[in-house]
Amino acid sequence: MRFKSWDWRQTLEEIEARGLKRHKLTLESAQGVRVRVDGRTFLSFASNDYLSLANHFEIKAAAEDALKRFGVGSGASHMVLGHHAAHADLESALATFTHRERAITFSTGYMANLAMVASIADSKTLILQDKLNHASLIDAAALSGARSQRYLHNNLQSLEKYLVKATENPEYEKVLVLSDGVFSMDGDVAKLCSLSELCQRYNALLAVDDAHGFGVLGEHGGGVVEHFGLTSQQVPLLVGTFGKAFGTAGAFIAGNNEIIEYIEQKARAYIYTTAMPPAIAAATQKSLFLIGRAHSERAHLQNLGRFFREQATDLGFDVLPSVTAIQGVLIGESTAVMSLANYLNMQGILVGAIRPPTVAPGKARLRITLCADHSQVDVQRLIDALARAKQEGVMQ
Ligand SMILES: *Cc1c(COP(=O)(O)O)cnc(C)c1O
Repeated sequence: MRFKSWDWRQTLEEIEARGLKRHKLTLESAQGVRVRVDGRTFLSFASNDYLSLANHFEIKAAAEDALKRFGVGSGASHMVLGHHAAHADLESALATFTHRERAITFSTGYMANLAMVASIADSKTLILQDKLNHASLIDAAALSGARSQRYLHNNLQSLEKYLVKATENPEYEKVLVLSDGVFSMDGDVAKLCSLSELCQRYNALLAVDDAHGFGVLGEHGGGVVEHFGLTSQQVPLLVGTFGKAFGTAGAFIAGNNEIIEYIEQKARAYIYTTAMPPAIAAATQKSLFLIGRAHSERAHLQNLGRFFREQATDLGFDVLPSVTAIQGVLIGESTAVMSLANYLNMQGILVGAIRPPTVAPGKARLRITLCADHSQVDVQRLIDALARAKQEGVMQ
């Protein structure tokens, strides 16, 4: 026998022994702050449905209406015959919303990032990206064939060091800088003003993936870019996803006409895949409309966040600073975070327990997400459960 057989079991046992086994729950209800799992109702702080739009009646009505008129499947890829009027309408609404010339839509954010990075970067490009960027940006860099380096999280000195070094290397003709807008596991915000200034100084192209900022930050829900008042010159490429605050599915890239045209012509992850169902595009357009007007929901999220951080800090928890819907509570060891999450689960509360390799070793944490439908009473219930966990020494 020339080849080895695969040994799945050893790896699986290792994962289990290190407390890193991932379990998924099966939802028996619609997404929301109250969900059914295993026949029980839980108070959930574990979704990314920040504006509670995933089961919103107006968005469902828009989807149903489009479903009746246009059917289920898009039927083809965009460049063949799958690009429906619903996609075209959504793309122009997104361009207006982001104050950019053009937007292009994708079935998932993972694909939008693959499409963007792999079409733009080649072997003569250096990609510099934040150490805590989303996995899809990291994978996209690998797929592009470009050299990729990761600078220290939100550290402009570290980025500049790499930029200075790159200017001395004749192999690099261009530089692409990638950053999350809101970091998905910490909930902190990229230092976008200094980041864009630094990129402009070195003539590096900046692309920002604001999956968690859209809908939540900015007066009209325009995300980090609106939060900091940055123009399309300052942030030339902007990615947003629909699976978080939009409450639907898919993603977009917005930028000037040429850059979006370039991606459309070149990106394999755009060309060789079926367009998202038109009903999802229509539903997303409704959700975009609702996001623009969700001023009180955004204010409510800020209030809940402040309340949660104050109370949890008072209990002695290490709460990460955040102005977003993502609230991180640093615990440390994977086993401790699992015990705490299981304890909360027994109390009828669902939270995210985030462990390596998603975060660095020793940095396991609870990832608590706040949604528009949460009340202060809901958050108080979480705080009370955390207080009991602490008293009972659950994390030891
Ligand atoms: C969720 C997320 C993605 C992936 O988007 P999907 O639509 O879920 O594939 C990409 N980037 C960031 C920062 C994300 O949080």
